Amino acid sequence: MADTDLFQGGRKLPLMEEFYSLQGEGFNTGKASYFIRIGGCDIGCSWCDSKRSWQADMHPLVDVDSIISRAKENPSNSLLVTGGEPTLYDLEYLTIQAKKNGLVMYLETSGAYKLTGNWDWICLSPKNHNPPLPEYYTKAHELKVIINEDKDFIWAEKMAGLVNPDCHLFLQPEWSQIKKMTKAIIAYIRDHPKWRISMQTHKVWGIP
Ligand code: SF4
Repeated sequence: MADTDLFQGGRKLPLMEEFYSLQGEGFNTGKASYFIRIGGCDIGCSWCDSKRSWQADMHPLVDVDSIISRAKENPSNSLLVTGGEPTLYDLEYLTIQAKKNGLVMYLETSGAYKLTGNWDWICLSPKNHNPPLPEYYTKAHELKVIINEDKDFIWAEKMAGLVNPDCHLFLQPEWSQIKKMTKAIIAYIRDHPKWRISMQTHKVWGIP
């Protein structure tokens, strides 16, 4: 976990961007939410579409209280925390303050670092070169595996065998392979109907 002095025990976070939009992927596709993208990630996915987030010190340290004061004005009453890899930081203070202000809390994570905070929804998007900590398997509401090549189906099944039985299972084509891997996912789900397909609809529909 990142240096708590610099981040004042989670009272400050490196904020890459914040905006109000619709969730584009997975189980909650189409739901409005306030988004915050936290800077910092060392997972190193070759196909990452958010490489600008990787270096935490490129992003300003922002008071969590000020983030909450802006987020609580959004009419969806929900706050989605993404990255980067948000679990690099202590998120306890963020979720405590958000809950006090009536916000429903969503987390997008690879699960590579210890989970902190109180979450209403955890989307686990595991990466096979840096697998999740076991605690995520019991806590994830949603498993979203990115399919970049055929062997990723094997990784997806391994993860599906570890998550809790109530966890919703999604396969999502990596964006640069969308034509090839969407076809492969459709064929795969026909044979393995416990899965559902997830698309990056915000990219298709131009949702910011
Ligand atoms: S975990 Fe997410 S932000 Fe980090 S490299 Fe992978 S896709 Fe990018």
